[in-house]
Amino acid sequence: MGKRKKAAKRPQQSRQKVPLDTAFTCLFCHHDKSVTVRLDRKEGVAQLVCRVCDQRYQSKVNHLTEPVDIYSEWIDAADAAQQDAPAARPAAASSSRPVATAASDDDSDDD
Ligand SMILES: [Zn+2]
Repeated sequence: MGKRKKAAKRPQQSRQKVPLDTAFTCLFCHHDKSVTVRLDRKEGVAQLVCRVCDQRYQSKVNHLTEPVDIYSEWIDAADAAQQDAPAARPAAASSSRPVATAASDDDSDDD
């Protein structure tokens, strides 16, 4: 019944030009939006820096690289670095195995 006023088409929220800077949460100090990624496509490099704890990371960019890519690279790199550190590796369970009774650990070909 009631004529609804046609919702005036709004111009899509004035689309801001997205700057190439993007802020993320820092892996190390956990501050929100303290990590900034700056892409320099001309130079083909990306700089990531946390303005709180001063963590830095640098990587290469191409025309498809987004700031978030650099950010995840950084996470991977940080992960890898941690794994590199001589840490407790779970020892392979290979040493003298207890005699498992009735454990069909080895259910061989009963075809
Ligand atoms: Zn930080």
